[in-house]
Parts: sequence; C-alpha cells; structure tokens
Amino acid sequence: MIEFRDIHKAFGRNEVLKGISCTIPTGSVTVILGPSGSGKTTLLRSVNFLEKADRGEIILDDLHINVETASKADIHAIRQRTAMVFQMYNLFKNKTALQNITEGLTVVKKLSKAQAREKAIHYLDKVGLAHKSDAYPHELSGGQQQRIGIARALALNPDVILFDEPTSSLDPELVGEVLEVMKKVAQEVNATLVVVTHEIGFARDVADNIIFMDSGVIVEQGPPMEILSRPQKERTKQFLSRYI
Ligand code: ATP
Repeated sequence: MIEFRDIHKAFGRNEVLKGISCTIPTGSVTVILGPSGSGKTTLLRSVNFLEKADRGEIILDDLHINVETASKADIHAIRQRTAMVFQMYNLFKNKTALQNITEGLTVVKKLSKAQAREKAIHYLDKVGLAHKSDAYPHELSGGQQQRIGIARALALNPDVILFDEPTSSLDPELVGEVLEVMKKVAQEVNATLVVVTHEIGFARDVADNIIFMDSGVIVEQGPPMEILSRPQKERTKQFLSRYI
C-alpha cells in the first residue's frame, strides 16, 4: 500500500500539489490522469524523492516518511522498494541493453555479475527483446528503448513501479508495443503500478483505479467504469470530453 497524506509542493510561488491524500492498494494498477501542469508527474516523483515535497507524509507499507524530516536512510529505503520508468527512457547511452539492466542489479542490489546477467536476460525476454541484448540505445527504436526501461525496472523486483508518461515521447506507431508490455506487466507482476499517462484506453482496459487530478488537487477517483463512464465532477467531464 502506498498512502499520500496531505502532500504539498510548491516551485517558488507556483503551488503544484495542494494537499494530496489518497491510498493506492498493494498490487493494484492506478492510473493518474489530468491536464498538463496539474501536478501528476510531481506527485509521482515525490514518492521516490526525485522531487522532495514540502510537507505531508508518504507511507509505503511499514515505511512511514514525513517528507519534511525524511532522513537519508528513509529515502534510501523507499528507493530500494520502488523503480521508475521515465518518459525519456533514461538509458545509459554507452551501455548495451543488457548492461543497462545489470548496472542497477550489481550496484544497487549487489548481485554478482553472473546473477545479474541471468536476471537481465530473463527480463529482456519478458519484454520481447532477448535478441537485442547487445544493442546500444541508438540502435533501438524509441519503443524498444522504453521496453528496456521497463525490463530494467522489473529486474529490480520493486514493490512499486512508477511510470512517468512512458509513451508520451514515442511516435504514435510505437505506443502500442509499449502499452502491450505494460499490460503484460500488470497481469503478471505483483508490484503496485502507478502510471501517469494520457492513454485513456490503457486506463480503461488495465487500471483498477483512476485518480483524476487538476490544479494540484485530486478532483475524483475510482474504478475506470465510474470515472470514465460516469464522472461526477464537471472538471473531469470537461477533460474526458476531449478524448471522446
Ligand atoms: P504534464 O502532463 O504536462 O507532464 P503534469 O500534470 O505532470 O503535466 P507536472 O509536471 O507535475 O505536471 O508540473 C506541474 C507544474 O509544476 C507545472 O506548472 C510545471 O511547470 C511545474 N514544475 C514542474 N517541475 C518543476 C521544476 N523542477 N521547477 C519549477 N517548476 C516545475
């Protein structure tokens, strides 16, 4: 379970998160939707302290962190249990697909080179890219690079995988293959998935829960059938009307 309690964050005078509170159940797929600038990415990045919120609490199972007083050990602990898939893939350009995955396993998880390699091959296979293990990022399409990014996250065996707009840098014809891999991950992996995306179809098909944010607040949340088919709030209706 991930719980946000009254999370606030401002960049200068721009108050981006205005007291976010919600609970994301273990093993669920939660999609965060909302207009550009509503604070979705900032909220996601506050979980692993890539963005340090100003106040509030973040709870991951038995780990209770007050963001104002978070220690290095707290931040280390939450990072050990989470993995992120980035919009721009964030692969090491001078490492092969395989090395991109083994790096975190040897450095963060302290696996031996042989164990890391075995694990990396397993997850490359899961995302359908075992045959590309020796390819460098520039030799791969954007969709393939993102699938490596997903394999890298999976290989860490995290409790939570945070997806930060994983398809928004991709050419439209490459979006489908990444969404397919994400669907497979949702079905096969026990981790809690939190996905910031504009892909409403993915949200409808895969999410257990949708959080709709606007201007730094959660406007409404619930199962896709409720939020997408019977939104209660005007702002949600307006936002969704663009996609129908
Ligand atoms: P999008 O769908 O466009 O990615 P979002 O809902 O994810 O939007 P955020 O990226 O969280 O929104 O940004 C929310 C607001 O915070 C925006 O006004 C943005 O300009 C601002 N912001 C985000 N990161 C920073 C930063 N590092 N420094 C200053 N302002 C920032």
